Amino acid sequence: MNKVCSFCGNKNFRVRNVQYIYRHDDHLLMVNNVPCEECEYCGEQYFRGTDLEKIEANFKAIYSSGKKVKKEIAVPVEEFTEI
Ligand SMILES: [Zn+2]
Repeated sequence: MNKVCSFCGNKNFRVRNVQYIYRHDDHLLMVNNVPCEECEYCGEQYFRGTDLEKIEANFKAIYSSGKKVKKEIAVPVEEFTEI
């Protein structure tokens, strides 16, 4: 494979499973253990298009069709100038 990182030009990647956060307006979806190729130099992560489409479809199923999720967490939100 002749992949090159589009940010730093590095050619070495490692395969990892990471947490992906999909965000649309004020709605978030965290997906654990999403496979990606991570640039060994700058850490930029590259995901498969089909995996991102799957996450997007799941996001829609949750927020539009009321699909039940495995787990929900509460996320505190602050303004930086107020902390
Ligand atoms: Zn890079």
